[in-house]
Amino acid sequence: MKRTRRIVIISHCLLNVNAKVEPLAKEMGGASIICKLIELGYGIIQLPCIEMAMLGSKRWGVVYEQCNFPAFREQCQKLLHPIVLQLKDYKEHGYSIEMVIGVDGSPTCGINFVSKGNWFGEFNSENNYKAKINTLHTAKGKGVMMEMLENMLKENGISTLFYGIDERETMHEELIQILNQKQENN
Ligand code: SF4
Repeated sequence: MKRTRRIVIISHCLLNVNAKVEPLAKEMGGASIICKLIELGYGIIQLPCIEMAMLGSKRWGVVYEQCNFPAFREQCQKLLHPIVLQLKDYKEHGYSIEMVIGVDGSPTCGINFVSKGNWFGEFNSENNYKAKINTLHTAKGKGVMMEMLENMLKENGISTLFYGIDERETMHEELIQILNQKQENN
């Protein structure tokens, strides 16, 4: 493959769907995006899955509020640090950091919207867990890890586009159009 000096950063599970909370990833998810990125010759940097790192593969689905605490953010920072250093090096040597592709709806990797809710405590009737589950909703904003990544990139003088994919779609036509446009402009 030719060296294009163009790099995209993607959420971990767009390449490794095994990281997702079960039973998500029944569909092919972002497969069409990955194929397109390869076809266009992008270098792909895979972000860590912070939820796997903090909660493992047997985790329940979580909401933004459950991930928004100092130790979680500190762990995001630790895992992102070596990646941000690589990106800084690439940028300083003429590479283009073209885009971060996250997963909308995720409390950690969302770009445009995240899952929120008043979720906490035991799953039992004394804790009125059904009422708590029903507080689930989506709200505008980035997930916890994407917030951290955005700040860390800014601190290192790296500006790039953040794009959130909606995995309920399979074709991702808008993103593919953006990528094609970028290709034409190069
Ligand atoms: S935390 Fe991010 S990488 Fe991990 S499963 Fe959720 S969306 Fe995917």
